[in-house]
Amino acid sequence: MSCSLIKQLGPESLAEILPSKCSPSTSSSCFSTIACSQPQHLEFTATTMPQRCPIMGLNEKIAEIRLEKGTKRIEKAVFLQNGLKFRCQRCAVFCCRLGGPRLLKKDIERLEGAGYSREKFHDIEQNGIITRADGSCIFVSMDSKHGLFRCSIYNIRPTLCRLYPFSIEKLNSDLYVLKLIPCCSGINVENGECVDERFFDEFLKEIFLGLIDSDAL
Ligand code: SF4
Ligand code: SF4
Repeated sequence: MSCSLIKQLGPESLAEILPSKCSPSTSSSCFSTIACSQPQHLEFTATTMPQRCPIMGLNEKIAEIRLEKGTKRIEKAVFLQNGLKFRCQRCAVFCCRLGGPRLLKKDIERLEGAGYSREKFHDIEQNGIITRADGSCIFVSMDSKHGLFRCSIYNIRPTLCRLYPFSIEKLNSDLYVLKLIPCCSGINVENGECVDERFFDEFLKEIFLGLIDSDAL
């Protein structure tokens, strides 16, 4: 199933939002491999990725996260692949132009605490940030000076935005899988940080525990 938002964007927008390291000629086939049931939840079909794609070859399964039985404490995170690097380029492209993300209760509280009026950002039906007619999140804006898209609430952005380009799948009550969403300009950039146990502890652990606590997985 193709993502309706991706269909809605059309080929020109697809070429525009591809990471610079992707060849424009691969855009249609890249995006035709993405299936998405809702924004921020992209499923990637690696087997149909074009041969020339530089992201090809990466396993979408990054790590297994095991909890101590019957608790919400992490026993260990076992990384299944080495060599993956990531640093967010703050391009606000893929994670922001495919719709407003789903919100946790604490995301809403954080935004309200910062002075944003709930009626102006909350899509009640989707329980997410309101999506503009062009499919982008209402908080993405164009930095015309640098010709880049930016998140206007970056420091208080929602949990799922902090998690991107990773996603977490629950296998059972004690076992979760950390996955990679390969549509991101920050994957394997030269100055990227190794995505390993330290990276998980520093950047992803708190997000993961927050998602578990909110029963969002
Ligand atoms: S997560 Fe990826 S797509 Fe989103 S702003 Fe960062 S580099 Fe860009
Ligand atoms: S809140 Fe910010 S990071 Fe999240 S989708 Fe919207 S613009 Fe992008």
